[in-house]
Amino acid sequence: MKKIAILGSTGSIGTQTLEVVRHNGDIQVLGLTAGSNIRLLEEQIREFSPVAVSVMDEDKARDLAVRVRDTDTKVLSGMDGMMKVAALKDTEMLVTAVVGMIGIRPTIEAIRAGKDIALANKETLVTAGHIIMPLAREYGVSILPVDSEHSAIFQCLHGESARSLRKLLLTASGGPFRGYDRKMLEQVTLSDTLKHPNWVMGQKITVDSATLVNKGLEVMEACWLFQVEVDQVQVVVQPQSVIHSMVEFEDGAVMAQLGTPDMKLPIQYALYYPQRRFLPGDRLDFAALGSLTFEAPDPDTFQGLSMAVEAARAGGSMPTVFNAANEQAVRRFLNQEIRFLDIYDMIGSSMGRHQVIPEPSLDTILEIEADTNQWLESRW
Ligand code: NDP
Repeated sequence: MKKIAILGSTGSIGTQTLEVVRHNGDIQVLGLTAGSNIRLLEEQIREFSPVAVSVMDEDKARDLAVRVRDTDTKVLSGMDGMMKVAALKDTEMLVTAVVGMIGIRPTIEAIRAGKDIALANKETLVTAGHIIMPLAREYGVSILPVDSEHSAIFQCLHGESARSLRKLLLTASGGPFRGYDRKMLEQVTLSDTLKHPNWVMGQKITVDSATLVNKGLEVMEACWLFQVEVDQVQVVVQPQSVIHSMVEFEDGAVMAQLGTPDMKLPIQYALYYPQRRFLPGDRLDFAALGSLTFEAPDPDTFQGLSMAVEAARAGGSMPTVFNAANEQAVRRFLNQEIRFLDIYDMIGSSMGRHQVIPEPSLDTILEIEADTNQWLESRW
């Protein structure tokens, strides 16, 4: 039986990972973590009997400990608890399904403890890829992509030599505002933004998909995962979200991975790699689909993509500033404190004041995050 732990088990990726576990029946879940949703975490404890769980919110953790005192599960709390769950004895793999760069420290802890990483938490790789990737090589652990685009690329590269790769074609749905101009974006509301055309996901990534920040984060994530330069990653809008991404090789051949929009496929692929297993669900019906269409993105309107490429080119600490500013901007957009286009202004002005620090240490990354947060709070 494969033994795993899941960071962010109460979220969209976390709950779908547990669905895959439930369906297969041969994975043991030893650890789970949540931010604050102890009602769902309690249900997960009763169903999966993990050895330990952790809740970020200390009061909620105390509450949960009382509620589950009839079980053998140990309840931990805070960052310390999350790091302990990440490095639990006996787990082989950690699924990082927590949202935001809060995932950096536990991911590092898990790698140091020799765990393979099934990585959904892209913000960790975007801000600390230069630490994570060499560390994974040093400890001989695999980083298996869960993001559907990166899983698609990973599947297309199976059996191919990395040297023959020419470019990655990262597909994007275009989000709910595809085709809008800047004037139209001035009017959009939170509820318009949360209506993704093809995927049901957590709120932060849904907003990121509308701004194209998500695609920008994915460009940076792809550079780290597949060791390519930013100019080797081309974003292609594929509104039906059927082609999950493609790879172009030296000889001009293009390989693509297609499927219905279902995150359980990339999750299961990462959990059982290199094995493929039956997965219940809809299959593609090409005749019913009729056609697949493609467009170039509009980076002048959707600056989330152009600013991410700029941050990737600047390198060093700039992706941390891009990401930290976006995390705060999205949080405040979700609280309806700012408007949609303010997200771009908050990211752009944070990047504009930052002097790049090459190869920032973990402490420096966290200091830059705190500094960016403070500056934005004092200004917006
Ligand atoms: P959700 O918001 O649905 O879930 C996030 C999880 O993280 C929840 O378990 C939440 O706990 C926990 N969490 C939130 N804040 C904290 C915190 N401060 N400390 C500890 N735990 C916290 O997110 P998603 O599942 O949508 O996304 C997770 C990651 O996967 C993101 O990086 C996203 O970009 C990536 N991803 C998601 C996809 C999707 O389809 N959803 C697709 C591809 C990538 P609680 O709810 O208890 O507060």
